[in-house]
Parts: sequence; C-alpha cells; structure tokens
Amino acid sequence: MAELRNIIQRKIPERVVSRFAPGITGHLHLGHVVSALYVFGITRAVGGVVLLRAEDHDRTRFRSEFDDAIRDDLAWLGMVPDRSPWPGLGKLDPSLRQANREERYREKLNELAGRGLTYPCDCPRRRLVANDEGELVYDGHCRGRSQEMAGDHGFRIVMPDRAFAFEDLAVGKQEQNPARQTGDILARDRHDCWTYQFACTVDDLDQEVNLVIRGEDLLPSTGRQLALREYFSPAANAPVYLHHPLLTDPSGQKLGKRFMSESITSRRTAGISAETVLGEAAFAAGKIDGPRPMELAEALALFSNWRHLHGGT
Ligand code: GLU
Ligand code: ZN
Repeated sequence: MAELRNIIQRKIPERVVSRFAPGITGHLHLGHVVSALYVFGITRAVGGVVLLRAEDHDRTRFRSEFDDAIRDDLAWLGMVPDRSPWPGLGKLDPSLRQANREERYREKLNELAGRGLTYPCDCPRRRLVANDEGELVYDGHCRGRSQEMAGDHGFRIVMPDRAFAFEDLAVGKQEQNPARQTGDILARDRHDCWTYQFACTVDDLDQEVNLVIRGEDLLPSTGRQLALREYFSPAANAPVYLHHPLLTDPSGQKLGKRFMSESITSRRTAGISAETVLGEAAFAAGKIDGPRPMELAEALALFSNWRHLHGGT
C-alpha cells in the first residue's frame, strides 16, 4: 500500500479531469454502474470533474434509444457530468458524442497519413493470427499500399515495435508492445466507422482527460492508446490510468442472475429504486458485504479513501 500511495502522490494531477465513456451499443447494466461508481467516486474524492462521453462510434450497432436511455439512467442515478471550472482543462462539451466528431477524426487521420503512418487495408479478418496470449495480430500485409484503394476498406495505423510502460494505480506497473499485441490497428473500419482505439485517444487528448478510470478488460488497450498519443502529442503528459476490477460475484450468487443481466432501464421503468441499484453496484464493486439500498452520496463516499492520495492533501 505504501508503494501504491507513493506512485499516486507522485502522479495524480492537481486538477483531475476524468470521464465516463459508455459505448452506445446497448443499455446500461450493473457492470456499467459499477464502473461509473469508480469514476465518480474516485474523481469526486480528489476534487476533480467527470465528463460524459457517448462512445457511439460503432454506427452498425448504435441506436438513438440507447443514447437516450443511458442519459436517463445516469440522471436517475444522480450521475451527471460536470463542467470544468478550469480554463484550458477538460475542454469541449462535458457531454460529447463521438458521432459529432467526424471532421475532427478525419483531420487527425490525415495528420498521420501526411507522415506516412497510415495505409488502407481490405484484408479479411482471417488474416489475423493469434499470438501466444491469444490476441489477434495483424501481420502488416497492406503496409506500403497507396492511400487510394477501390472497394470496401479500412485504414490502419502503423504501430511501433516497442514497449510502452505505465504505472496503473490499481494493477501496478505495466508494459505493453502494441506491435506484438495487435499489430497495426484500424483507425477506421470497412464500414466507415471510427474505431474505439482511435476515437477514444483523440477524444481523451482533446478533452484533456488526465485520469482514465475504466474496467480491467480495457487494460490491453492502453499501450495502443499511448502509442497513438505519442504520434499526436509527444510532449503531452499521458493520463494517469486506473483499471478497476470487473464485478465480483459475477455469477450473481448474492444478487441473483437476473440483476446482472437485466438492463438498468428496465429496472428503472419497473419501479425499482435508484438506491437499490446503487447498493447492488457498491456490493458488486466489493465495497460492502451485502447489497443494501444506499444514496448516491453514500455510495460515492465508499471511494473516499482515494482522497488522501491526492497531492498529499
Ligand atoms: N466505451 C468503452 C466501453 O464501454 C469504454 C471506453 C473507455 O473508458 O476508455 O467499454
Ligand atoms: Zn490489408
């Protein structure tokens, strides 16, 4: 613990800007609420602001009813995004939609294209080969092809073959080599959708996010995002990362399977209270011994132990 505290005291920014960034491909579930609790709880504990970002880059799965429902669910839970009080920090709409950012993503892709770091690719998925860790790696087959390509194709970005190191606040020191994990990543896929890795990195930079809190399932993405950040903004500090554990009790033994699979929207519209859901999320985050209804303030206070890690105050 002493060691963890040192890392955090050294690295957590004075003015924290974090974000909650749900994909708009379905309804929120308890796992999302757990993640939002980490984001709002830790960020509030260190006096920071939380931005909301609708990650609606996947237009094949996007539905506007999901977007509406997610906003309604979050408001119902009391989790509303903040406006940054700090000039030049946490810029842009505190509630940004990636679908409105087409022009910006295009500009950023062109920036890399001008430096010879992108190429079009129409390779089928079967071209990806699993590495020892079971990750699917692209072999760079289309590298060097001209930017003009007929037919359906995406655009890839060359990944550097070197390790990116970072100190995760929850899981400790990490080293990832994106070239070995995935090879050159897609920035835009063959359906003309921007990819998560690309859109998320551009947004985190533009929104000046300096604390990224998200589930452990996204840990392997971080090296790729660091590689992209370095292309765009080599001098900028990388955000501090915290990858939280996914749900404890994934079998839903104490909560019941139904609570894990039923959407927050359907529970809200069925008349279940927000306090009930927040208590379940606090329990699923491993913060209390059993689910019991609680107010948002109480649920967020369960993360107040992070306060003393902020700048030593
Ligand atoms: N949209 C991603 C997800 O829902 C999270 C993005 C992030 O926090 O980096 O899994
Ligand atoms: Zn290809």
